[in-house]
Amino acid sequence: MADTHPTYLWWNGEQVRWEDATVHVTDLAWSTVGAVFEGIRGYWNEEQQELYVFRLQDHLDRLMDSMRLVRLPTTYSAEDLLAATLTLIRDNESREDTYIRPLAYSAGTSGKRLSDAPADAALLINTNPMPSKLSSGETMKVKVSSWTRISDNVMPPRIKNISNYRNGQLASMEAKADGYDGAILLSPQGKVSEAPGACVMIVRHGKLLTPPVTDGILESITRDAVMTMARESLGLDVVERSLDRTELYLADEVFLCGTAFEISPIVEVDRYQIGDGAIGDVTGRLQTLFESVLRGTEDRYASWRTPVGVAAGVTAD
Ligand SMILES: *Cc1c(COP(=O)(O)O)cnc(C)c1O
Repeated sequence: MADTHPTYLWWNGEQVRWEDATVHVTDLAWSTVGAVFEGIRGYWNEEQQELYVFRLQDHLDRLMDSMRLVRLPTTYSAEDLLAATLTLIRDNESREDTYIRPLAYSAGTSGKRLSDAPADAALLINTNPMPSKLSSGETMKVKVSSWTRISDNVMPPRIKNISNYRNGQLASMEAKADGYDGAILLSPQGKVSEAPGACVMIVRHGKLLTPPVTDGILESITRDAVMTMARESLGLDVVERSLDRTELYLADEVFLCGTAFEISPIVEVDRYQIGDGAIGDVTGRLQTLFESVLRGTEDRYASWRTPVGVAAGVTAD
């Protein structure tokens, strides 16, 4: 696609041209306080001329969970949104790695109270190109943030609620201002929680360790996939338990995982060098395996991929 934006969005049941998808400016203030979203990726397979969407059903099921938790009612089912997503991608002719973002928000909030029960959620799905960095060789140097991760009884971190991102944004901005590439946040109990937008994994004494879903993390689908691949395909012991900050410093490998971050190797935490300061063996093997799973260049974990049928062409009327 030569354009800087896709041709269509899916908005409240209709496929709408990009330039026609506008809202009134007075809708800005409160509409996204309770909004929830999903970040989903599709990976282009050049040889097969096909785009594979990663764990689409799981993402849409989580969107439904998120809507339930923030009390946003909807008449659409995950199945409706799945069909809409596939049609949208086909009609946008996305022949490259693509990010897909469904968003559920409360429209027409101007003049209403935040405590008023929201009417039917407005629902938007948009797509944009997002190339994979899995084989880029990029690494990150991070700091443990001076900000604390939000917790379940403050703003539930397990769902993708837009408001939650203020917490991670503060941590990321602080990290960048201090000369790091990113941050890792600790929970109010001082345990390792997660990075802004990604979960944390470490390798130590030959095991893969990651904080449990009760330490203020998002219930990440990539985390689940990485744990599964590490166990089944790399034969590693995978342990979910609370992690201390100093276990990051002593780890042989540290990496982030999530839809946006894919698998992102960390080579320094608070200026402690991790391992030999390069991408670790387990991290590298997981990156390679994950990319081939995502692109459908190998057969394992085929049930995680939804082929879009891009080559079949445009489906709009
Ligand atoms: C989206 C997200 C993740 C990663 O979840 P995935 O399901 O793997 O994309 C981790 N942490 C936060 C805060 C997130 O928003």
